[in-house]
Amino acid sequence: MMSSVPGPDKKTKLLVYTIEECPVCGQKTKRAFAVGDYVTKDSSKCPKCSNVTRVSLVYAEGVKPSS
Ligand SMILES: [Zn+2]
Repeated sequence: MMSSVPGPDKKTKLLVYTIEECPVCGQKTKRAFAVGDYVTKDSSKCPKCSNVTRVSLVYAEGVKPSS
């Protein structure tokens, strides 16, 4: 007997994303979630105006392999 525990759906993988939003110009950036991210956290610099962006949203997407 194998000791591994099967997930609810072996073919669905969850990917977590973080949306950063610049409070000055409204630029939104989507990137992969990093450990420690949370909504309202100060994040990286805005690529447009160099102000500090804030995390506005953290969400997960289910991804099914196409093969
Ligand atoms: Zn900006």
